[in-house]
Amino acid sequence: MAPRHAFFKGQIVPIEDAKISIMTHALHYGTGAFGGMRAYWNGEQEELYVFRSLDHFERLLNSAALLRMRLPYTPESLTQTLVDLLRHEGYRENCYIRPLVYKSEETLAVKLHEMEDDLAIIVNPLGEGSYVNIDQGAHVCFSAWRRVDDNAIPARGKITGAYVNSMLIKTDAMLAGYDDALVLNEDGHLAEASAANAFIIRKGVALTAPITANVLEGIVRRSLIRVLREDMGIEVVERNIDRTEVYMADEAFLCGTGAQVTPVTKIEHRPIGDGGIGPITSQLRARFMDIVTGRVDKYKEWVTPIYSTEKVTSH
Ligand code: PMP
Repeated sequence: MAPRHAFFKGQIVPIEDAKISIMTHALHYGTGAFGGMRAYWNGEQEELYVFRSLDHFERLLNSAALLRMRLPYTPESLTQTLVDLLRHEGYRENCYIRPLVYKSEETLAVKLHEMEDDLAIIVNPLGEGSYVNIDQGAHVCFSAWRRVDDNAIPARGKITGAYVNSMLIKTDAMLAGYDDALVLNEDGHLAEASAANAFIIRKGVALTAPITANVLEGIVRRSLIRVLREDMGIEVVERNIDRTEVYMADEAFLCGTGAQVTPVTKIEHRPIGDGGIGPITSQLRARFMDIVTGRVDKYKEWVTPIYSTEKVTSH
């Protein structure tokens, strides 16, 4: 289903009215930054929960700063705007939320400074949709592409133009019959998947690439590191991961707002572990789903309830 409204140029408008000019700078040069967030519907509580809204908006504003945008917003004010938009839409189902900041000036100038910027937010109701068939696990390959490098386009932010890299990785993987691809960085170490961070489990230890390996500063990644350590007693090590370590892993999974926790059960022609969904991955996935749907008191500060929130404050 498509969004009915958008937050556009400072107000909530019907989606048909949220239009930009063909001259918009961001359309020509990829000079925008975006977020990808989820709201989870909890039917028992009749509540919609947005996961880590303040953290998502903080990352968005950091990405915007990399593009020299000066926006009159804070993570708190954007969360309040999102609460208003979600209430306006009135969804009672899972939703995908897309905030976008972009160079809105109508110019072809090749520069970032001294230009107008704008922000828009749209919400896509999801129904029961998921990223890949999570129950079977994903079959992935190593991409022939390399992950965009911090010295070319900042990899830690969600810069719109950088997603050409993700699209090449994902499209070539899908056309070759895979669900997704893992991508190596220019150093030859594992970075992440096309639009998700990646973990492997070896001998009971969870390994994931450090942020300095040119991975996005994933919010689910950060959340799962805490859950693995604190709730499951699993050691987590952020370090460079070689390609062959993935082949030898006992378990592997992708994580992110879209992927949630997606088990990887096969890489190219090799099963991961015994080819099934491993015990750590399935326990983590169950815990994550409980957290995002507002069922875990310990992590209540990670979720913003939409229909019972009075005023948004920082945590
Ligand atoms: N890496 C990339 C390239 C992504 O696009 C995403 C999705 N935003 C992620 C990782 C996961 O990040 P997050 O957990 O913040 O959704």
